[in-house]
Amino acid sequence: MTAIPVPPADLRDIKTLIPATDIALRVRTLAKQIAADFPDDLMIVSLLRGSFVFTSDLIRALHHAGCRPQVSFMTLGSYGSGTESSGTVQLMRDLIESVEGRHVLIVDDILESGRTLHFTRELMLERKAHSVRIAVLLEKPGKRKRDVNADYIGFKVEDKFVVGYGLDYANFYRELPFIGYIP
Ligand code: 5GP
Ligand code: MG
Repeated sequence: MTAIPVPPADLRDIKTLIPATDIALRVRTLAKQIAADFPDDLMIVSLLRGSFVFTSDLIRALHHAGCRPQVSFMTLGSYGSGTESSGTVQLMRDLIESVEGRHVLIVDDILESGRTLHFTRELMLERKAHSVRIAVLLEKPGKRKRDVNADYIGFKVEDKFVVGYGLDYANFYRELPFIGYIP
């Protein structure tokens, strides 16, 4: 029989870094900027699994900002089950739709080494997207291994392993409504 996984840390030990109310305000502001920058065409490419919560709040904020995006998903992996990136990006599940000729906005949870977003941006350009921009909820400055910047950034965070609002530790804590860290 396989053992049922248990969360690696007690919930009471997780410290809040960004409260849910701050996230909600920031997402609304980003959505207004994005809606203004993509008046005619917006194809969102959301990177699973970490960005699903951010994406779902962002597209509803986009609706209120008058934007009519299409939304697609891709599953990428680089972290494995721990807190250290493995260094190689794996395409685990591809988009269903073509991005050819489209104005693409890649949406990810966090920009750290830049490997994930560099890989995805190159792939979108290879597939002849008309333009490619990047939105991330979080950015960890000073950790970059690839030349890639985000056009829309929710928050810059210090170099801590963060969880919540879609981000996991061993596939736990994605359900937390805030961004936290385990000290
Ligand atoms: P990068 O390719 O930029 O090094 O890392 C991007 C991916 O690594 C993110 O999409 C995210 O899944 C994961 N990641 C990076 N930093 C953190 C972190 O502090 N916490 C969690 N949960 N995931 C992270
Ligand atoms: Mg990720």
